[in-house]
Amino acid sequence: MKTLQSVSQAALDFIYPWTCQLCGCTDEVSRGGATGNFCRDCQEQISPEILNSCDRCGAGLGPYASAPGGCVHCRSKPIRFDSLTCLGMYEDALRKAVLSAKWSFSSAGTASLADLLFSQRRAELRGYAADLVIPIPQSWQVRLRRRFNPASVIAAVLASGLHIRADEHILRRRRNTRPQKRVSVQRRFDNQKNSFRVCDGHVVDGRRVLLVDDVVTTGATCSEAARILKQHGAKCCEVAVLARVLDGR
Ligand SMILES: [Zn+2]
Ligand SMILES: [Zn+2]
Repeated sequence: MKTLQSVSQAALDFIYPWTCQLCGCTDEVSRGGATGNFCRDCQEQISPEILNSCDRCGAGLGPYASAPGGCVHCRSKPIRFDSLTCLGMYEDALRKAVLSAKWSFSSAGTASLADLLFSQRRAELRGYAADLVIPIPQSWQVRLRRRFNPASVIAAVLASGLHIRADEHILRRRRNTRPQKRVSVQRRFDNQKNSFRVCDGHVVDGRRVLLVDDVVTTGATCSEAARILKQHGAKCCEVAVLARVLDGR
C-alpha cells in the first residue's frame, strides 16, 4: 500500500513538479524550511531573522534598543491589542510575496505565507494560549474586488496549527470607513472608531482571542477590533499578521 502511495506521489511530482511560490524555481534541492513552499533563498528573504522587535506593535528594532511601554513607532498610539507578531517588516521580498498572494486568483499563496508564519512564530503563537482565532473582515467594497479575504485564509491556517477554532462571523464591519490610505496616520485611529460590531458576544466572553490580518500599518484597525472584542468580555487580544508596515510615526 505504501509503495502504491509513493508511486502515485512520484507520478504527481512528475506531472506537477515542486515550484517555489515566490520566484517560481523548480529546483527541489533548494526547497527550504519546514513548510517547503518557498526555496531556501526566498524563505530567507521573506522572513529574515528578527533579532529584536517591539512586543507591543511588532516593529523591528535595533539590536540594542529596548522598548518598555512601546517603541518609537507605537508609543504615542492608543493601541488596544496586547501584542503583535509577524513574519517580518513589509518590505522587499515579503512585500512582493504578500502583494502577489493577495491579488492572486487562488488563496494558495496566502496559505503558504500563513504556513511560514506558523512555523517561524510557533512558540510565540502557542504561548498566547488563545481559545479562538478571529480574522479582520473586509469591507464590502474590498469584497467585490477580491476573490477571498487573506485574513480568513491566514486565520484558518493558524487555527489548524494551534488546534483551535477560527470564527469569521463574530466580528463584522459596521460601517464603511474612509479607505485608511486617504487618512493621515494620526487620524486613522479616529477613522476606525465604531467600525466593527460583534455578533454573539457570549462566544468571546472570557476568551483569549488571536486577531489576524494580512498587513498592519498603524495598528488602528486591529486596535479597534480588539477594543470592541474586549468590550464584549474578551480577556485579551493578541495580533498575528504576515507583515508590519513601518510608517515611521
Ligand atoms: Zn524562490
Ligand atoms: Zn512598538
